[in-house]
Amino acid sequence: MTEIPDDHPRAQSLRTRHRIEEGVEKGITSQQGLIAQGRGEAYDYLLGEQTIPSADEAERTAAAQLLLADHAVLSVNGNVAALVPGEMVELAEATGADIEVNLFNRTDERMQAIADHLREHGAEDVKGLTADARIPGLEHERAKVDAEGIHDADVVVVPLEDGDRAEALAEMGKTEIVVDLNPMSRSAQTATIPIVDNIMRAIPNVTEHARELQGASDDELTEIVDGFDRETALEEAERAIRQGELD
Ligand code: ATP
Repeated sequence: MTEIPDDHPRAQSLRTRHRIEEGVEKGITSQQGLIAQGRGEAYDYLLGEQTIPSADEAERTAAAQLLLADHAVLSVNGNVAALVPGEMVELAEATGADIEVNLFNRTDERMQAIADHLREHGAEDVKGLTADARIPGLEHERAKVDAEGIHDADVVVVPLEDGDRAEALAEMGKTEIVVDLNPMSRSAQTATIPIVDNIMRAIPNVTEHARELQGASDDELTEIVDGFDRETALEEAERAIRQGELD
């Protein structure tokens, strides 16, 4: 990988691109993943490539919700695996959540490559390969999940998720935490807790909040979750994107 100087004005964005490129080379990320990354980058540029206050609040709420969950599952696709493999493992450890590989374009090779990649980054139990349950309302390949994973979960984290599946999971009654830089996407619009932030910043920040909230009582955690207003979070993000001042 070409060395990117820290003081390069687009250093973070260029590093992100390299990770996605490497993901494609390793057979982890699909070619459509490159396009999804491009869409995300455009929104991040307009956000000023920063975690806006409403996103930080959503990230703290997500941490509280994960700590309250009976069974939380973090869903990992090809872009997530390329961008934040170790960070997803740390979030799972901090919150007691499971990790499940879930692909829009599912192939056995890519499922296996992602599971191996996650294990290389410290994951012990990676779900998604059993695929013995289905999400109702989705076409066969896209519906596959683990009975003891996403199918059973009460809380799911679905970063960079396709809109159809986000909607189908919501229909199942899951509490859905979505990470998506586009506040107008169907995934963000469907989410119980929409996090409009780059996944590279969002996941470590949720983990940090989870560590801070480790000793909090269920009442305190519930108060955080109840105090969150998803409509306001989406509006704030859209306002920042439409009217934000670029440095
Ligand atoms: P919709 O939810 O409207 O149906 P879609 O399924 O067409 O959207 P994709 O093209 O699959 O969406 O793109 C995935 C989403 O992930 C996009 O909304 C994009 O903004 C977002 N995204 C891409 N990269 C990142 C990233 N690094 N961090 C956060 N969000 C990202």
